[in-house]
Amino acid sequence: MPTKKRDYYQVLEVERSASAEEVKRAYRKLAVKFHPDKNPDDPHAEEKFKELGEAYDVLMDSDKRAAYDRFGHAAFEQGGGFRGGFHDPFDIFREVFGGGGIGGNIFETFFGGIAGQGEDRQRGADLRYDMQITLEEAAFGTEKEIEVRKLDVCDKCKGNGAEGGSRTINCPVCGGRGQVVSSRGFFQVSQTCPRCRGVGQIVEKPCRQCEGEGRVERTSRIKLKIPAGITDGSRLRSSRNGEAGIRGGPQGDLYVVVHVQEHPIFHRQEDDLYCEVPIPFTLATLGGEVPVPTLEGKANLKVPAGTQSGQTFKLRSKGIIHVNGRERGNLLVRVMVEVPTKLNAEQRGKLQEFAELCGEENTPLRKSFFERAKEFFRDV
Ligand SMILES: [Zn+2]
Ligand SMILES: [Zn+2]
Repeated sequence: MPTKKRDYYQVLEVERSASAEEVKRAYRKLAVKFHPDKNPDDPHAEEKFKELGEAYDVLMDSDKRAAYDRFGHAAFEQGGGFRGGFHDPFDIFREVFGGGGIGGNIFETFFGGIAGQGEDRQRGADLRYDMQITLEEAAFGTEKEIEVRKLDVCDKCKGNGAEGGSRTINCPVCGGRGQVVSSRGFFQVSQTCPRCRGVGQIVEKPCRQCEGEGRVERTSRIKLKIPAGITDGSRLRSSRNGEAGIRGGPQGDLYVVVHVQEHPIFHRQEDDLYCEVPIPFTLATLGGEVPVPTLEGKANLKVPAGTQSGQTFKLRSKGIIHVNGRERGNLLVRVMVEVPTKLNAEQRGKLQEFAELCGEENTPLRKSFFERAKEFFRDV
């Protein structure tokens, strides 16, 4: 690079006597400001960001800093004693801000997004699970075991995030406050510390299985009790079965949304069930018994002589029990009179005979209809 290298202290805008803490604070402020992801239209931002990383790399390392104080940039040039150059500026940024991928996670946490959830920050997230059940299961209640893939308490460290007996110390990023202050233009914004995620403490040696978070992704089997009478779209809360909290924080809840499947025979309306049953026209005329379906199996329905198509019969308490109640709904059976479509000669003969016997008698509905509609049937 032809341009002369700037002084590292100037780059970070700190005094030559600045402590490591001050260097870090300065880096945090400026690195966020000049991160290329935040400045996609500024080609100089990346240069500046790399310059900041380099300055931080040197000033935070006591050996490098001492060499720089004595020899300036020459300390890191060829033959200057330090080999291997500088750490990747993005790795540095990641390390300072703790965990997560560059851009995405860090910026979500740092620039709003999931940060700033107040007291809820240590608590695990609530989860939603959609479950399909049959109408029978909804009617009588059931127990279900579901599998949910979620963040669960780490079994290795039991959730505290510490590797075998290691201590907890104050978070070096926020000094134990759990909050960090960043500048956004003229504003100072206080946000959840991305390193300790608001806890204020970190473990000295993080658990290797969960990287100190106290939780790992796992598939859990959860038992659920579905109460009798549950309606479609109901939401059940399975307390503390959501995501595990960070480092032993409280568990979130699991919300199960129940979807009751359509039934091939029964249609549900609140606690009542409806179904349609075809019956032969002779049975409708003469009366008799027909088998009808109920949730508990077959029942017999008495059909009186002279039943019309579409007439509804009520079977008391054969519907669905009211959820958390005692009252049970009814089953409403609508009979549909079926007209035969194929007749043999003998059947046709008998029916014709029957028709002649009846004449215009025995058709009260038809008579009253023609009475009401007679003006439509006047000859044109
Ligand atoms: Zn662990
Ligand atoms: Zn912190």
